Amino acid sequence: MTDLVIAGGTVVTAARSFVADVAITDGRIDSVAPGLAARQRDVPVLDASGLLVLPGVVDVHTHTRLPTDERPDRFYADSVAAAFGGTTTFLAFNNPGTGISEGGASSLLRGLAEFRSRTEGESAIDYGLSSVVTGQQADPMGELPALIGSGVPTFKAFMVYDFRLSDDRLFELLRVAGREGGMLEVHCENATIIDALTADAVEAGHVACRYHAESRPPYAEAEATHRAIALARAAGASVYIVHLSCADALAEVAAAKARGWPVYAETTPPYLVYTDAKYEVGDEAEVIRSVISPPLRSDADRSALWLGLRAGGLDLVATDHVPDRLDTDKRLPAPPFPQISNGAPGIETLLAVAYGEGVAQGRITLERMVDLLATTPARLFGMPSKGAIEVGRDADLVLFDPNASRTLRQADLHHSSDFTPFEGLRVEGAVRTVLQRGRAVVRDGVFVGRRGAGRFLERSLR
Ligand SMILES: [Zn+2]
Repeated sequence: MTDLVIAGGTVVTAARSFVADVAITDGRIDSVAPGLAARQRDVPVLDASGLLVLPGVVDVHTHTRLPTDERPDRFYADSVAAAFGGTTTFLAFNNPGTGISEGGASSLLRGLAEFRSRTEGESAIDYGLSSVVTGQQADPMGELPALIGSGVPTFKAFMVYDFRLSDDRLFELLRVAGREGGMLEVHCENATIIDALTADAVEAGHVACRYHAESRPPYAEAEATHRAIALARAAGASVYIVHLSCADALAEVAAAKARGWPVYAETTPPYLVYTDAKYEVGDEAEVIRSVISPPLRSDADRSALWLGLRAGGLDLVATDHVPDRLDTDKRLPAPPFPQISNGAPGIETLLAVAYGEGVAQGRITLERMVDLLATTPARLFGMPSKGAIEVGRDADLVLFDPNASRTLRQADLHHSSDFTPFEGLRVEGAVRTVLQRGRAVVRDGVFVGRRGAGRFLERSLR
């Protein structure tokens, strides 16, 4: 027996758009065809005429924070914010800084257990974990097979910061991941170059926020991207490049793809919207909002990323959501730039920016947007029930009004941060209603979901 029919909307898949009804039974899509509502008169109908019916967005890169005694609602709040933005599934990292205990940070398996117990009953939408492998953990290689077997087949390592992995360790990790059916995500920047340029800047007294960007040039990212790809090639493993920001790094990914190597890359919304001109304004309060790593790049880099999204050099867009706050992590007066928080929030604004700056501006097609935000992330990260409007998949759906427009403002957002890097950005389109497994989480712009309704997803890449 059908539970609900979404009637008369334009259904969008990665391949095409067409007017059809979507029938939902037991939380799954059971048919997609015209006229379903007319044929089943006693079934509740949700009118979607004039609206786009999109698969719920799958955000594979967030640093949502665990609940604490002081801030018990922050994980929940970010899950609600995601839903408002049209995201129905997110993956979180549990790196130091997200509130994980010292014990949880020192072991992949303890980290997973702690993440699961502390997020139990919290999320309003479905979610999963990607672990972080650090140089401080006792035996990450030994724990990796059990981690993958427990539903966490994706994990990130860093080539910079004090918790980075050496090339030797990175290579070993890639080997184990390749053998066991995991996928390593890598933050690619050259630590030697960045440490040297940072030390030089500090010595010269160039410690204002804007010097952060000068210490992290595009060639430092491109070199590390090349190296990560080479290590993965030698290890017989796939590799996923996180938050790719510049044309030179994109060229490395595109060259590897052209050879048929299993190399994947994401970019994030700030790089698609803004450039390093943001660092040239005199006002430190403005600059500090845009301090992210890698930094914002040139206009030519920004254009190259859009081309990459169109042409396939880039596989998807994720947020790298870091719910840092202006009143704590990015407080003024700012310390010397090496000590400033270098993250920014974005869990609620992914679809708004991708549609407004991408589809509405003619930079990508609607179908490509669905591929980049839902279908490919679900496929690459082992979530076969997510990411597409197809019979048998979870009825995670967004009713989106392409004729609305809005101005993004912190005052209207629901995330646990206190600012948005997109303040004042005018975008076409607006999320109206969001369903997860057939149940409304957001209806006509109002949250109607439930804390704890989201499920932890045990994923597999095999
Ligand atoms: Zn990240």
